[in-house]
Amino acid sequence: MSKKILIIHTGGTIGMKPTDSGYRPSPGFLEHQLAELSRQWGSQMPEFEIKEYDPLLDSANFCPRDWRRIAEDIVEHYNRYDAFLVLHGTDTMAYTASALAMMLRGLNKTVILTGSQLPLCLRRNDARENLITGMILASEYLVPEVCVLFGSVLLRGCRTTKVSAVSFDAFDSPNARPLGTIGTHIRVFQHRVHAPEQASGPLEILPLENTAVATLRLFPGIDARVLDNVLQTPLRGLVLEAYGTGNGPSRDTAFLNTLRQATDRGVVVVSLSQCRQGSVSLADYATGRALMDSGVVSGRDMTVEAALTKLMFLFSQGLDTAAVRRQIGTDLAGELTQ
Ligand code: ASP
Repeated sequence: MSKKILIIHTGGTIGMKPTDSGYRPSPGFLEHQLAELSRQWGSQMPEFEIKEYDPLLDSANFCPRDWRRIAEDIVEHYNRYDAFLVLHGTDTMAYTASALAMMLRGLNKTVILTGSQLPLCLRRNDARENLITGMILASEYLVPEVCVLFGSVLLRGCRTTKVSAVSFDAFDSPNARPLGTIGTHIRVFQHRVHAPEQASGPLEILPLENTAVATLRLFPGIDARVLDNVLQTPLRGLVLEAYGTGNGPSRDTAFLNTLRQATDRGVVVVSLSQCRQGSVSLADYATGRALMDSGVVSGRDMTVEAALTKLMFLFSQGLDTAAVRRQIGTDLAGELTQ
């Protein structure tokens, strides 16, 4: 029996049209285009229904409450559909994918996020390809996790980052091999895919509230006062994009003291690498150990998107600072390599 997909259309370029003020979402357009495709392809088209958000959003306008809305829609329709295809703008897709992976507990069905660099209304576009491939993946394969399909790859959602503003291969998961590749054949590497959850309980949403977190990228000469400003209340968590294996300016005692004071106050400071690939290892260099001695914890090989949403997620579970610091390095949804 063919599977039934729910397409959740949140917005993004895929369904936009050009206007005098740039690309804007166009209500009803995508539904109309899908109806055309169904007429053209008849029974070859997977069975689907579409839920279009009002308003449709450019994902640059997404907030944590929009992540929650998607999670709630998946839970609400979970028993009536076999898979979920979420159409989403590319700008913040990696954040949404990371957040959903942490929020959805007990997932046994495929959830795919996709979008496009060029809208479906243009003569030349990547929207049609991503849309159709997303529907085929959702209806013919079981990938029971939150993933991102884009261009030639299917990726674990909480490992993704947008790497190009122009290429049709806009996403990568630099520290996790693809779950699938898309070419003349669609290949899904089942040995890399999460096994379906054995628990018989229903799909649950764990809380993820908007929390005061931030990211700061180190650069040679960064002033400790800048760091101090960022670390002020109400900040609860900081992703420090450090050098290489998680190193920082250890000769700058004002910088280290500022970090120490903040971590003593309970701010969780997570070190990530500015390098696209590889993992933080704070003990490797004296310049990394100095951060560790100032209370900084390792974010290992997480993306910035995963680390930021994970900080929000952990604080939203009501954990205290010590527990958040411990859990940052623990794998929750496949976001880091253990
Ligand atoms: N600004 C758009 C968005 O994120 C870009 C896109 O969809 O590619 O909604």
